[in-house]
Amino acid sequence: MTYVYDFAEGSKDQKDLLGGKGANLAEMTNLGLPVPPGFTISTDACRAYLAEGASPAGLADEVGQHLARLEERMGRRLGDAADPLLVSVRSGAKFSMPGMMETVLNVGLNDESVHGLAAAAGDERFAFDSYRRLLQMFGGTVLHIDSEAFRDALDDLKDERGVKNDVDLGVDDLRGLVETFKGIVSSHTGRDFPQDPRDQLDLAMRAVFDSWNTDRAVLYRRQERIPEDLGTAVNVQAMVFGNRGMDSGSGVAFTRDPASGHQGEYGDYLQNAQGEDVVAGIRNTVSLADFAEVDKAAHDELLAIMKKLESHYHDMCDIEFTVEHGKLWMLQTRVGKRTPEAAFRIAVHMADEGLIDMDEALRRVTGDQLAQLMFPRFDENAERTLLAKGMNASPGAAVGKAVFDWATAVEWVERGEDVILVRKETSPDDLHGMMVAKGILTSRGGKTSHAAVVARGMGRTCVCGAEALEVDAKAGEFTVRGGKTVREGDVISIDGSTGEVFDGAVPVADSAVVRWFEGQEVDDPLVEAVARLMGHADGRSRLIVRTNADTGEDAARARRFGAQGIGLCRTEHMFLGERRQLVENLIVADDEAGQEAALAELLPLQRSDFIEIFEAMEGLPVTIRLIDPPLHEFLPDLTELSVAMAVADTRGHRKRRQRKLLEAVHRLHEANPMLGLRGVRLGIVIPGLVAMQVRAVLEAAAARIKAGGTARPEIMIPLVATVRELELVKRTVREVAAEVQAELGVEIPHLVGTMIELPRAALTAGHIAESAEFFSFGTNDLTQMTWGFSRDDVEASFFSTYLEKGVFAVSPFESLDIEGVGTLVRTAVEAGRSTRPDIKLGVCGEHGGDPDSIHFFDEVGLDYVSCSPFRVPVARLEAGRSAA
Ligand code: ADP
Ligand code: MG
Ligand code: MG
Repeated sequence: MTYVYDFAEGSKDQKDLLGGKGANLAEMTNLGLPVPPGFTISTDACRAYLAEGASPAGLADEVGQHLARLEERMGRRLGDAADPLLVSVRSGAKFSMPGMMETVLNVGLNDESVHGLAAAAGDERFAFDSYRRLLQMFGGTVLHIDSEAFRDALDDLKDERGVKNDVDLGVDDLRGLVETFKGIVSSHTGRDFPQDPRDQLDLAMRAVFDSWNTDRAVLYRRQERIPEDLGTAVNVQAMVFGNRGMDSGSGVAFTRDPASGHQGEYGDYLQNAQGEDVVAGIRNTVSLADFAEVDKAAHDELLAIMKKLESHYHDMCDIEFTVEHGKLWMLQTRVGKRTPEAAFRIAVHMADEGLIDMDEALRRVTGDQLAQLMFPRFDENAERTLLAKGMNASPGAAVGKAVFDWATAVEWVERGEDVILVRKETSPDDLHGMMVAKGILTSRGGKTSHAAVVARGMGRTCVCGAEALEVDAKAGEFTVRGGKTVREGDVISIDGSTGEVFDGAVPVADSAVVRWFEGQEVDDPLVEAVARLMGHADGRSRLIVRTNADTGEDAARARRFGAQGIGLCRTEHMFLGERRQLVENLIVADDEAGQEAALAELLPLQRSDFIEIFEAMEGLPVTIRLIDPPLHEFLPDLTELSVAMAVADTRGHRKRRQRKLLEAVHRLHEANPMLGLRGVRLGIVIPGLVAMQVRAVLEAAAARIKAGGTARPEIMIPLVATVRELELVKRTVREVAAEVQAELGVEIPHLVGTMIELPRAALTAGHIAESAEFFSFGTNDLTQMTWGFSRDDVEASFFSTYLEKGVFAVSPFESLDIEGVGTLVRTAVEAGRSTRPDIKLGVCGEHGGDPDSIHFFDEVGLDYVSCSPFRVPVARLEAGRSAA
């Protein structure tokens, strides 16, 4: 088994084996770019290590051989006392996990080689600066010493010397700091800092492997749905030094702006700095334009390389680089994370530039990103008090109470508050707080800082580098320079699209994208990009997108959003509010005459609902589901009723009604109402109810037709388990249809079909299709019935444990369980089509708007998906992506 690969042996397509960082280092090496040489210890080695709890046989030797080759090539030996080779040990999993895994720089320095480095470089300060950095990183990430201990010692020293920045410390200060840091290591671990260079390397490598399983990493993977079993690779790379004076430095850059998608390079550079200095926000960085002033040659070479990378990867790249004495080195590249806005704009720009085609552009944006663009923004016309302006790191409008540490954020969110996490800068320790917060605000760091990168990855609103804020986390407050102090619990608003921070709660308004979907003229480059990609998606898609709507208003909105019909109109929602009284009358009626009277009162109300909906959906199909929920849902709650009866006056008819209601509540009580008298079962037990509903639908349709319009009702019977049930109800439907058409003298084209939402229905779909003209998969109930999960209970009771233990990666109510429920869908599709080749097949329920589920429904060949109005654009986009 080979575990170790030289950079020259790999390529960008080997992320599984080499991790993202290793694969891209290999790619850049083979493109002939200036990459410090090194080798990658593969994810195979990590998996073996994690499985065995020890390095697999042969790994140490292999590392030794590659190290020897590297030493030969560099003409120096690792940690050599006279002129040491130093290396970085860098983690890198298949999917980038910002700040998750650990990196150690300057491996190979010890009490002796630090002098060798000083002599060889002719720079003692640099040598001791490098050594203290090794101690700090190694102590924190390999030896698990709280990094605060090192930071405090550094801060104390700076205070003592009266200097602000690390770079202002002299060589003696750093020499002293090295001793202090070594003391911290010994006192925390009971052992001295390992002096042997190869020990350092091995310990660092194992620490990288172990870091795969830290709480932080596990949490991030769960959030991002990254599989648990991938493991990480380790890259060992010759060091180059950005901390060798002002003609050296370190930087990060993007080939386009990752926040807005603007064309043109974007980056931060910091002179005399190493590694994380740039992103940690410890000093303020300069822009790429200013970098050109500092070092034109290195800057120009960098820009040329960025162009080359973009045209090679056909995508926006992010880059980490270092300059050592004016020589540029490339340390990392990858396809860069971006905001939803940037994703849409970059995709369209790249298609226009001919880098990719429109199908590829469509694949580069997602329904989730579109959904984010549809979130409200701050109302531009609202009163607001600007506190400060930082960088627009991740878009969105967030309002919440200021909190200053992750634990408070978590605690407050658990008790139902919205919070904004405010920090000087964030570190991986803050991750949990960042996940629960509405937004993240920092006073330091640029668009490439930890806060910005992580927030963009999670789609969380973020403003970073708001330098006017003096953040004091210990005191739980921040002060705006020369102004107001905001304390823990005070409400603030942050705008991740402009970088503005406001006092108090600013009201929010519709996004430009929604206004455009609503049919307004909007002149906005983002809207233009969205419009073009939506157009391409619609042209490509096989699936039709319908909507779930119960009112004319919802139907009209969904139609503006591009819905081509209604896939689910729930009639029971029409029985709530004031009409509940009429349903009660129906339930407590003593005899058939009483029932009929109650139904007669409901009829005109239902009819007018349907007229509105048919009007909104003129020319398009409308699927109407007959009453589905158990009747007791329309009755008062038992305790409520008992209380009312206890305090009621004794007037006769009131009392009598209440007694009857109470009796009905008792009579209709069920231990498992979701498995009880509901759906088609109601239609069979109370045929009058179905007859009334069908009459209302058909009379409304007839009214539409007589008014010169069209109506295409599709009557849907819920919760059918056997074809026999369907036939019984269908008989009523036929009778009513014949009556209405004769009475009104119009022919009303309509379909009668069923929901497939019980496993038995899916398994006998071939028979059911003999009677059903269409199927609509009710995947909410189908999921509930297949798993035996009560949807109303399980999400609160044990789903979090299930998710934690990996029983499933995502709730099956959110994203279709393709393996189980999906098999039932596939079975029913095949059986239904073989009985009735032209049967219409659709899906209603939450899954109709879920991207992954939509791709599955497209693949099994459904005709349409139906989802809530606001998900319609998302579903259209995903339907197009699935076909592109
Ligand atoms: P992360 O995945 O957290 O970005 P990296 O492995 O990229 O961690 O390391 C962080 C930083 O350390 C890099 O951006 C780079 O500045 C610095 N670094 C890593 N390896 C080297 C090296 N061989 N020489 C100089 N700097 C390095
Ligand atoms: Mg990096
Ligand atoms: Mg159902």
